Amino acid sequence: MTQHVIQFSGGLGSFGSALWVAEKYGTANMTLLIADTGIEDPDLWRFADDTSRLLGVPLTKVADGRTPWELFADKRFLGNSRISPCTKYLKQIPCRKWMKAHAPVGDSVVYIGIEKTKHDRRRVPAIARNWKPWRVQFPLCNRWMPELSKEASKAQLMDLSRWYGIEPPRLYALGYEHNNCGGLCVKAGQKQWKRTLDVLPERFAEAERQEASLRERLGDVTILRERHKGVAYSLPLSRLRRRQEAVEAFTTAV
Ligand code: SF4
Repeated sequence: MTQHVIQFSGGLGSFGSALWVAEKYGTANMTLLIADTGIEDPDLWRFADDTSRLLGVPLTKVADGRTPWELFADKRFLGNSRISPCTKYLKQIPCRKWMKAHAPVGDSVVYIGIEKTKHDRRRVPAIARNWKPWRVQFPLCNRWMPELSKEASKAQLMDLSRWYGIEPPRLYALGYEHNNCGGLCVKAGQKQWKRTLDVLPERFAEAERQEASLRERLGDVTILRERHKGVAYSLPLSRLRRRQEAVEAFTTAV
């Protein structure tokens, strides 16, 4: 009997692909495989539990045991938008380990919730390569699905979630594109970090503290970079915050 393993990130894309699989194959041989990075938003786990209840499939949690910050300290490397070892060590390796132990290659299919948007669908070939030797499907990218803008795709999945009586993860309502690592993804750019400073300031403060501690040990490493006249410069979170505070003080004064 084929095993259907949903790589369930706790985001809307993987929710949509889980529903697609449930409708097509039922849930008897379904696994909701989720990697815990230790810094997820608590509401991700509420959404994951709601999805698990809806489908009648327990969550299968895997974890490396380290948070991204602990991993960066161990590897003496701060993840950033270009290189993010946290994806490999905290998500891919624990999930593949589980697959090796529980999902025979010839009898299992992995489902990834990539949405059919111009930006996301470009990731499909690389993800499929990374999952070899397992067979991979992208239910939201099949040929019958129309290509949508990021906003339309998200709105459609939020409607679907509510239609099933499940409130979508709160990070989307706060303006995030993904529900991952509690709004502290090191791959995100300045725009998202400014959002975190604005809507989740205590979490920004924790990331700023962690980055500062890694900078003390590793030198001029930063999550963010900025460019001036073609030259890239480090942009520590502390500087980003001070700039934002200055902008706000100026805007309030005028
Ligand atoms: S979501 Fe971002 S911070 Fe979290 S593990 Fe993936 S790349 Fe790292």
